[in-house]
Amino acid sequence: MSDVPVCPQCSLENTYADGALMVCADCGFEWSGEAPAQAALVVRDSNGNVLVQGDTVTVIKDLKVKGSSIPLKQGTVIRGIRLVEDDAEHIEGNSDKIKGLVLKTCFLRKA
Ligand SMILES: [Zn+2]
Repeated sequence: MSDVPVCPQCSLENTYADGALMVCADCGFEWSGEAPAQAALVVRDSNGNVLVQGDTVTVIKDLKVKGSSIPLKQGTVIRGIRLVEDDAEHIEGNSDKIKGLVLKTCFLRKA
């Protein structure tokens, strides 16, 4: 994977950054470049600690789980979290009992 986005006009990957602009070497199209979402996205827990892919977090309060009758208990450990693309307020992960959780980061603390 390259860091540069594909050209919005010809969708080739032969693009490069020229200052704040992105330029396509193939068709010459120029557009305002954006940093890749992953680099711009900073996910923080309830204490403001940065969370990254694969972190272990602890749930800081009892939470209802959508589609499950089992609440997620305070103190539950979620290992190997996954970040949600373009969403700094949620992470995905599995507890021992519940798989496929999507959790608000404000209810989590880095373990
Ligand atoms: Zn192009």
